[in-house]
Amino acid sequence: MTSPMPQPGMVYLVGAGPGDPGLITLRGIECLKQAEVVIYDRLASHALLAYAGQAELIDVGKQPDYHPVPQARINALLVEKARSGKRVVRLKGGDPFVFGRGGEEASVLAEAGIPFEIVPGVTSAVAAPAYAGIPVTYRGISCSVAFATGHRADFAEDPCGDWRRLAPGPDTLVFLMGMHHLSSIVEQLLAGGRPPDTPVAVIREATTASQQTVVGTLADIVERAADMRPPAVIVVGEVVRLRQSLRWFDRPERRPLLGVRVLNTRPADQAAEFSQQLAAVGAEPVELPAIRLAPVPDPSALDQAIGRLAASVGKGDGYDWIVFTSANAVTFFLQRVFEMGHDVRVLAGTRLAAIGQGTAQALRTYGLRADFVPNRASGRDVALGIADVAGQRVLLPRSDIALPDVAQVLGQRGAQVEPVVTYITQPAEPNPVALRMLLAGEIQIATFFSPSALHGLAAMLNEHRLAEVLAPIAVACIGLTTAEAARQLGVRVDVVPQQPSAQELISALVKWRTGGELSQAVNPQIV
Ligand code: SAH
Repeated sequence: MTSPMPQPGMVYLVGAGPGDPGLITLRGIECLKQAEVVIYDRLASHALLAYAGQAELIDVGKQPDYHPVPQARINALLVEKARSGKRVVRLKGGDPFVFGRGGEEASVLAEAGIPFEIVPGVTSAVAAPAYAGIPVTYRGISCSVAFATGHRADFAEDPCGDWRRLAPGPDTLVFLMGMHHLSSIVEQLLAGGRPPDTPVAVIREATTASQQTVVGTLADIVERAADMRPPAVIVVGEVVRLRQSLRWFDRPERRPLLGVRVLNTRPADQAAEFSQQLAAVGAEPVELPAIRLAPVPDPSALDQAIGRLAASVGKGDGYDWIVFTSANAVTFFLQRVFEMGHDVRVLAGTRLAAIGQGTAQALRTYGLRADFVPNRASGRDVALGIADVAGQRVLLPRSDIALPDVAQVLGQRGAQVEPVVTYITQPAEPNPVALRMLLAGEIQIATFFSPSALHGLAAMLNEHRLAEVLAPIAVACIGLTTAEAARQLGVRVDVVPQQPSAQELISALVKWRTGGELSQAVNPQIV
């Protein structure tokens, strides 16, 4: 069945899911794509906002104990934006009708006569236990479950806060917003007759790389979970024992870097892929792009080289080889080829060398196969490995700060090398949140994919010396050239993979960590 297209002058109360952006529904994404205004909370994953395209984004950042935008203002905003004919998405954490005041927002819309649609979401009340390996019901163990708020402190007047009533009730109890009152909740459940050995789990930031779980009983959970901060759900009941056999998401062997924060200094447009790879092994990526790549401002030399290539097709008097020493070189070079009105046929008859598999892969995305890729990805290896290069014309598209080694070695071997600046490296604007985390010692591993990333970060740190800031942090470099640049800046390097690829870097980090070197992770798992 297909749903009708999102309408203007209408509000979509959309559940964003509990944290992992993959847990939103297809309908939710559809609404975001069509939205003209998106009003979102802190708990809604910011990664989802990328689907909202050009929509106006309004952060009403609800946090426990801190409502920068009062609920009445949010309600008014919904009405105001819808009345102006906009398609409004109200993006809410989890499910819009499970706490979080989504029901109130719908009531306001109903009263104002504004049409609305509810797009249910995966609620943390179910997802957090699921990601901790706890089914909220289980044949023979639990046949009922209640979701309760742990928010109401004044239970003398508010029946919501009388948790004693729940004690003899459903088999499984799931409390949301309960961390501030954990001890009162426990006290009342005990007073209401739940045995002290009833298992309890507290699950924090579920479904994200920062997920933490603490398990105990009503007798000791307050003490065990003393360091756990919101957002967290509290699960009470025998089902909690099932975690022992059903734990999956946070198994150390599946996610060996769980709870480790890793600084990703890749340029903004390339950061996401590495972040995803880090998250897959459990790490929490912190993106702090250190450099920005841009096309060369004066492309006349590049244009001349491309012009020569184009003119030589079929004649063989252009270049014998083009040596690509990075995926960026491939991208910026071909971008200019296309801008000049040519296509990949300008490369016909010219052999292509790639420094490593990442660069070869970049060529493949344009339907081009590298004629030579050295076994070991390094500038020296590619320059030494190309057969019979003496007397050959070699074009070398490169960045403005490339090392001279490739051109030198090829030159020594008798090639006529023509380096041409194809893209430039600029310092990036620092991401203040990530920078603050780095300076506050909240990051355990820093990764660098190029010497320029190290220089870019050094430029950002201003008065703080790079080596000093990185001293207490493990430093991983993609390859030997980058590691050497780090050492020259006085930075100790802990990890360099055998092959310079993102995947190999991650494997090396995993090996290194499981070797016990990084025992001081931020989020130790207490099971
Ligand atoms: N509508 C939301 C709940 C909003 S109330 C839902 O369906 O999930 C906010 C509370 O939800 C938090 O205090 C916390 O108890 C819980 N919560 C939301 N996201 C969570 C997460 N990723 N991990 C653990 N608890 C979460």
